[in-house]
Amino acid sequence: MNTQADLIAALIDLHRGLDRQGPGAADFSRSILGLVPPLPPRPRIADLGCGSGAGALLLAEHFRSEVRAVDLSAVFIDELKARAIRAGLGHLIIPIRADMAALDWPPASIDLLWSEGAAYNLGFERALRLWRPLLSSGGVAVISEMSWFADDAPEPARAFWRTAYPTMGDERLNAAMARGAGYRTLTTRRLPSDAWWRNYYGPLRERMRRVDVTPAMQAVIRETEEEMALFARFSDCYGYTFYVLQPADV
Ligand code: SAH
Repeated sequence: MNTQADLIAALIDLHRGLDRQGPGAADFSRSILGLVPPLPPRPRIADLGCGSGAGALLLAEHFRSEVRAVDLSAVFIDELKARAIRAGLGHLIIPIRADMAALDWPPASIDLLWSEGAAYNLGFERALRLWRPLLSSGGVAVISEMSWFADDAPEPARAFWRTAYPTMGDERLNAAMARGAGYRTLTTRRLPSDAWWRNYYGPLRERMRRVDVTPAMQAVIRETEEEMALFARFSDCYGYTFYVLQPADV
């Protein structure tokens, strides 16, 4: 019997050494940054659930400002440290191994809160509520969240996500949650499906061929393959939407 701890360890191992631990793309992230209203010079930036730092490194390079990069996994934080040094960005990345649900940072201490492919670990609504106090007035949050694109997604897709992520909402519901949590939605953008394949599922599939297959790894690989097969069929119906949010009181 695989314990939850075995499965999490296998999941982390499967994502070791990859550029990203979730779907995303640098050019897409830059286009999102082009939609963000002007921030103060040297904005205070956080990347929550940063993994090995695809987002944190891009943000540090883009803004030439410090990025607090938070992840629960020591494996990914260590990878981020090494990547930051290799990229000449070691002085701008502040790696923090911590629970992004329990940050003891002062209120209004972040101008740009970035979180890609990670909020679902807390649940979107809980993440929104927990992170809202961290944002400065005039600050911006960019949070990607798995979202339904269609009201009538076919049953196999519904069934998979009913188990994998029961609280997954559509974009209207997610924007309403953001409103309820004290934000206004400036804009939303959907991550194109080819970015999933090129930058995430493709490299992940390669990695699957190389890892040591323990029973826990076998279970993780099986589920990941199922997720990929589903995405191949139904990527029109769901995916990552990036929500660009501001505190509602500005
Ligand atoms: N943003 C990265 C990683 C996405 S994967 C990217 O786009 O590549 C989700 C990440 O969230 C994982 O690295 C996982 O370790 C981290 N995570 C999950 N729960 C967390 C928590 N409670 N606090 C901090 N990080 C968490």
